[in-house]
Amino acid sequence: MTEDVGTHYRAMAGTNKTHPRCIALNGIIGHAVSCSIYENRSSTCRAFTASYSDGEYHEDCAKARARYGLPELTPEDYRDNPIVNPDDNEPEKNKPAA
Ligand code: SF4
Repeated sequence: MTEDVGTHYRAMAGTNKTHPRCIALNGIIGHAVSCSIYENRSSTCRAFTASYSDGEYHEDCAKARARYGLPELTPEDYRDNPIVNPDDNEPEKNKPAA
């Protein structure tokens, strides 16, 4: 599920490409995706923050979305479409409307 990146590092298979797609990513980018190993994802993945999920803009998020032709996230994306965050201790609060 990982591949060598240089002598001392490894990366998730599929992420070390010009047009990356992680082997652990399920779903259709731009519609609905999820990480199949979320609880065991790498430190690199844990360090990545989606723009405004913490109230702040994150350039890496914008660049990743742009590679797939997706617009930058905005604060309104969270207000209008709450996201289920597995790390959140109050899952009912962030549960999307049915
Ligand atoms: S969070 Fe999951 S799907 Fe995304 S890059 Fe990391 S391992 Fe892959």
